[in-house]
Amino acid sequence: MRIGILCLQGDFAEHSQTTLAAAYRLNTPCTVVPVRAKEHLEGLDGLIIPGGESTTIGKLLVRNGMVAGISKIPKIFGTCAGAIMLAKRVEGAIPGQHFLSLMDIGVKRNAYGSQSSSFQMRLKTELGDVDAAFIRAPTINFMGQNVKPLAYKDGEVVAAYEQVGDKHYLACTFHPELSTTLFHEFFLLLGK
Ligand code: GLN
Repeated sequence: MRIGILCLQGDFAEHSQTTLAAAYRLNTPCTVVPVRAKEHLEGLDGLIIPGGESTTIGKLLVRNGMVAGISKIPKIFGTCAGAIMLAKRVEGAIPGQHFLSLMDIGVKRNAYGSQSSSFQMRLKTELGDVDAAFIRAPTINFMGQNVKPLAYKDGEVVAAYEQVGDKHYLACTFHPELSTTLFHEFFLLLGK
């Protein structure tokens, strides 16, 4: 399996390590491909869009002509800023902000406040209990009919999954790549 990690901005190094650790746990052969240009999207089975800053990631995706290529990828996992990039509706976007708009969720950017309001907590999820870091995180405030919630915090959805035809989208508002392989294992198994 070839899994691309979008390496334009954000915590892509952590995602690379956690993807390899998840593949090892699943005993699944997996090649992690750093993705910086549209040529790197060819032949990928999946793409991970890391946390970081969605305004910057969007600008760089457009500048590098990568938006159309990304929409053809069979499965995409977005964490935090990556989840914002996937969402069809975004509250708190800056004027002219670019998105991929592939997953039928609505998100609210910076829903818990500024960087200093970031926090970590033990979270029960459908995949198991995890330590979840919320770093200038969004919330998921809308889910389309086919979207399945995977975790809640105080009644709000913080992780979700959607299958759209033969495509799969996974979004987390927190950063599983920092503390667990569970979400990466789930992602690697999608479509298998
Ligand atoms: N607040 C950031 C944004 O809107 C996301 C933060 C993160 O990815 N940790 O892009």
